[in-house]
Formats: sequence, structure tokens, C-alpha cells
Amino acid sequence: MSPGEYLAAQPRIATVPSRACAVCGAQSWHEVGQAQDFEYATCSNDWTFRVCERCGHVQMDPLPAPETLRVIYPDSYYSYRMESIHPIARWAKHRLDRAKFGWITGGMRMPVGGYLDVGCGDGRYLQMMIEQGVDSARTHGVELDAAAVESARAKGLNVIQSRIEEAGELLPGSYDLITMFHVIEHVERPDEVVARLRSLLRSGGVLALETPNFDCADARLAGRRYWGGYHTPRHWHVFTSTSLQQLLRRHGFQIERARYQTGHAFLLWTLHHWLKYGKNRPALGEWCHPLKNVPLLALATSFDLLRILLGRKTSAVLVVASRS
Ligand SMILES: [Zn+2]
Repeated sequence: MSPGEYLAAQPRIATVPSRACAVCGAQSWHEVGQAQDFEYATCSNDWTFRVCERCGHVQMDPLPAPETLRVIYPDSYYSYRMESIHPIARWAKHRLDRAKFGWITGGMRMPVGGYLDVGCGDGRYLQMMIEQGVDSARTHGVELDAAAVESARAKGLNVIQSRIEEAGELLPGSYDLITMFHVIEHVERPDEVVARLRSLLRSGGVLALETPNFDCADARLAGRRYWGGYHTPRHWHVFTSTSLQQLLRRHGFQIERARYQTGHAFLLWTLHHWLKYGKNRPALGEWCHPLKNVPLLALATSFDLLRILLGRKTSAVLVVASRS
């Protein structure tokens, strides 16, 4: 059975219509791509991505119905956490993360008192900030996955198992810094999440958001079907730097800085999907699997670092904004 035949044999899951543009509220769209679950093969649905003609924001439409979330996030989804990644890749990621946090906090006008990481996984960013002197009692994480929460709590970290929209125990106006990396593209209502994050920041507090960027060469080349940044059907909103900044401004943020980031292995996922499903070359496709081929991942990361150095856009963007 070819990978395409295997995917076609999976169940079709229930869907619900998407809403108006989450960034600007417009309802004029055109289709930019169609993709399937090329990573986990959880369902056979063909998922459509459409771009807002007013602001350039990309949304998936329709979306998986709420009762299908356990299908599209199978147990194996969480097994590719940091623990399962090769030590060299983990070391490199740690270096890149330290540089990223240096860039985020380096521009802050006040020291970080309260810190919140949304989608904190096993809490490595919380640990990093505590090691840099942030008060552990004022450092909190929010995470959905039970195993990740357990792992973070075992390290003595304050982590709430919840969606950010429902984490009622977080105190409004109590954080100087909130980070949310590669989460906003997964939520149904990014507008509501951004409003919620704003309410949790003190006046002048800083929000750092990182998410896939549609306005890049690899999305232009592969966005009709195989672009890794779609992460279909789990990325429901795909921003550009411009549309993300527009969303933040609409919800009372002032944009401080933005930069492109290494693309979270999207380059290799694009190759994987194209070879495995587009060319029916499963072995070659698997060879490009970013978590199984560390040298290739290092090469792709270096390529993205070079793109950033040359002032080019990559498939991920980091925006730092303050509560005005
Ligand atoms: Zn729009």
C-alpha cells in the first residue's frame, strides 16, 4: 500500500465551519492550498486553507469538530518532545533558545518579576528563566498535555493543566513577561487568546509570540499542498508578520520588535510530505523526517540562520509587543 493509499483509507472526521477572519473580521477569501495529515495520517480529510483578501491572514476552513481533537492529537503526538530528541539537537536548540530569550528580555525596560509561559511543555523555559534569577514563586506555566504537566511539576515548577482561555487561577495584571511559542496557530480563536494574554500582563508588560510565517519562500513554493508549516490539520491559523502585528495592535498592544526565526523543521517536513506523498518515495521521505535525521536538521537550521543573516524571511516569526 502506498502512503497515499494508506492516508486515503483513514476515517474522515467531522468538521465545523471556520469563522470570519480572526485578525480583521473580513469575510472575503480565496483558497491558497489543500493539504492532508501528512505527518500523523490521523484522517483522510482534505483540508482547505484560505487567505483573507484584506489582511493576508490564512485560516483553515472548515475546522475539525471539537469531538475529533483526540483523533488529530493522538498519544504519539506528544512523544516527539524534547526528551526524545537527539542530545546534539537538544544542545543546539538550547543555544538558540538562550539567544532568543536574550533578545526578548534584552529590550525590556524593567526586570522580569512575574513570568508566564503558555504551552510550556515540560517547563524548560520556566527553568531557564528561574536559572536567570526570576522568582520561581512568580513563574507559571500553562500546558494541556498531562504527561508534560507531570514532568514539569516533578521539577518543582508551577504548571496549570488547562487551556489559557480557561486558566482562571492566573491573576490579571500580574505578569511582566508572557511567552507563547508555536501555540497561537493551534487555537480556534487567536483574538480571544490575545485579549486574555493582555489582561494577564501588567501595564507595560511584554508578550513574545512565535508562530509559523506564511510570507516566506517555502510557503510560496509548496503552499498549494506540501508546506510543512501547515501541520495539517492542527494549524488552524497561519499568520504573516504583518497580520500577527495587526492582531496584536487591535487588542491593545504596541509592537516593539519582530524578527524571523529558524523554521521549526518546516523545511524538512515540506520535503518529507512532497517525497512521501507527492512522489511516492516513502523511504526518501522518511529520511527527511526532521526528528530522525539530526545532520539534515542541522543543515536546515543553518540554512534558516543564513536566510535570517541575509535579511530574508523564514517560515517562523517572533513578535515582541508591550501592553499599552
Ligand atoms: Zn483579515
